[in-house]
Amino acid sequence: MTQPPLIDPSMLSMDDPMFNPAPPKPIDFTFAASNLIDCSLEIGAIYSKDPESLHRKVERILADGGENLHIISDFDMTLTKYWIKDRKTGEKRRGVSSHGVMKYMPGMTLELLEKEDALVEKYYPIEMSPHLTVAQKIPHMEAWWNSAHDILASINLSRSDLTSTLKNYPFQFREGAKELLHAAHERGVEVSVFSAGVGDVIVEGMKPLGVPITQDLSAKGEGVVKVVANRMKWTGDEPEDKCVGFHDPLIHSFNKGEHTLSSPSEPTEPNVPTSTSHRPNVLLLGDSLGDIHMKDGYPHKNSLSVGFLNVDEDMWLDRYLEVFDVVISGEDESMDWVSFLIGSLSVKEEKN
Ligand SMILES: [Mg+2]
Repeated sequence: MTQPPLIDPSMLSMDDPMFNPAPPKPIDFTFAASNLIDCSLEIGAIYSKDPESLHRKVERILADGGENLHIISDFDMTLTKYWIKDRKTGEKRRGVSSHGVMKYMPGMTLELLEKEDALVEKYYPIEMSPHLTVAQKIPHMEAWWNSAHDILASINLSRSDLTSTLKNYPFQFREGAKELLHAAHERGVEVSVFSAGVGDVIVEGMKPLGVPITQDLSAKGEGVVKVVANRMKWTGDEPEDKCVGFHDPLIHSFNKGEHTLSSPSEPTEPNVPTSTSHRPNVLLLGDSLGDIHMKDGYPHKNSLSVGFLNVDEDMWLDRYLEVFDVVISGEDESMDWVSFLIGSLSVKEEKN
């Protein structure tokens, strides 16, 4: 016996919504931007000097999607925590930077550590001096970084030493940093990490976050986090191979914005890409006022800058608000607001 059809075709007309489903409603990005911003401003999770401009920038990023966005982030005290709890004593102490972790490497003697301390004592006041121009400071920064790199190159460090030290002294990342990087990866957002620290340390230290990462700026493959930092020279690629110095260019605190993905290049230098395409939207993350310059060498149309103010809010908040579109203040305040923004972009597969 033939089963009757569930729906009698003669009962249907071409005007039936079944044949003419309503077109999907366009996403209201203005509404989505308000959702992200207004409540956060109200509860004090974020600060902004110009909420109207902030709305426009967030709306643009949401409307253009992940494939048009490039995140440029600082590493030390932006992706990592400013304060950490000592594993033995439970006491709060300053987080270790990508340069600072080097003091735990095998081969680092007391004498070399004293040399490093002497460099900090000599050059840090110059770096922070309000009486010197950046141009006057730069030769001193170059001397400081070169001397610190010479110390590292002198300890006969192997690749496996570096790996095991970072296993024993892992970086502690800001809450939400891992989620941010994964959300960016899933949505086709490009991510670059800029640092005046040691790139090899950053790459090794970020491995536990579980996103693909490289210092090779010409590397193909979407969603690979690229680290633009001082790159060690090794005798080879094996675990027992040794560090014998650093590649050019030298990246210090006043030029890390210049060595961006658009830097003019020596094709043989690994810190410089062979080709690149620029995205119109940039999301910049940093914790120092100077970090705002990380986007200077990257052509873009719209930028949203987020500054993490780790300490001394009373003293610095107004100044940070002058520089960054959004300020997230407090001792190791989380990355959640930024993660929500990236999480609000469509996942790539859903667009196909
Ligand atoms: Mg920093």
